[in-house]
Amino acid sequence: MSDDKFAADKKAQELAGPEGGFPEQEQTPPGLSTDLTPFPDHGEENWVGRGRLEGLKALVTGGDSGIGRAVAIAFAREGADVAINYLQEEESDAQDTKQWIEKAGRKAVLLPADLREEKAARGVVDDAAEQLGGLDILVNNAGFQWARRDGGLQGLKTEEMDRVFKTNLYALFWVSQQALSYLKEGSSIINVSSIQAYDPSENLIDYASTKAAINNFTVNLASELGEKGIRVNAVAPGPIWTPLQPATKAGESMPAFGSDTPLGRAGQPSELAGAFVFLASPAEASYVSGTVIGVTGGKPVF
Ligand code: NAD
Ligand code: MG
Repeated sequence: MSDDKFAADKKAQELAGPEGGFPEQEQTPPGLSTDLTPFPDHGEENWVGRGRLEGLKALVTGGDSGIGRAVAIAFAREGADVAINYLQEEESDAQDTKQWIEKAGRKAVLLPADLREEKAARGVVDDAAEQLGGLDILVNNAGFQWARRDGGLQGLKTEEMDRVFKTNLYALFWVSQQALSYLKEGSSIINVSSIQAYDPSENLIDYASTKAAINNFTVNLASELGEKGIRVNAVAPGPIWTPLQPATKAGESMPAFGSDTPLGRAGQPSELAGAFVFLASPAEASYVSGTVIGVTGGKPVF
């Protein structure tokens, strides 16, 4: 990051205090971390690993940026080797995540692919398992929403629905199905839900539906895989400062982003990592399956 960009980010961070808001900004999907003002906190400076995932092998879809990057960094510091999947346009973000995984002394595997294609989605799982030498943790984190639309349900276009449903649901089914060949007793799947599953926004009607479906999928698959000793859970984030937001919402909505939560602010990606590490840990979460942990700044997830 250049000195100029760093100074600009520092200034923006002052503007974005708990009572403040984010500067107006928009990006083109999928968006990049380096274009966010302020730059998010992925735990680079503060996550302290305690060997909770020692020797495990994880695949994090959408691990280049946002919540996925925070998870990848924390997993690596906890002792896991990590493969990340992302879209080709996000290569620069993926390289940054890779550096953090390697700085933690772990193996990083980069797997660019569009998960909306079945063959590519299945290939990502096979490649991750092959290059990592197995697979213990699958984090279904890749996701897409589109909120720049008017006219409620009438304004929803089929191509928008296709992108949302294919990314959030078809890919999740394909990737999870493919992972069944590799996961074994003690392994776990963590899906990424949303506060939108519980408290849906009108202009995210398709996205919110996929997140409710992900909760249902989580409970159902936990039931199926329980006898194999494989746990399936989900994390439901509230408003989190990631590229997804300015890449899919109107720029003028950024200043108020997250201010309607009981804690009065948006969360940072680093504030999600603890929930994922806990759920992934075979020791700490040995009896936790079929549940959703909310990390929402205080909004209810029931
Ligand atoms: P993000 O933009 O950093 O991450 C989303 C990632 O999804 C992208 O980095 C991209 O690599 C991946 N992705 C999107 N389409 C893809 C495709 N077709 N093929 C492969 N990868 C694709 O944003 P984020 O907010 O960290 O999002 C991570 C997850 O968190 C998503 O499932 C999102 O729905 C969920 N979530 C985010 C928030 C929030 O406020 N940021 C709130 C609730 C849930
Ligand atoms: Mg990204």
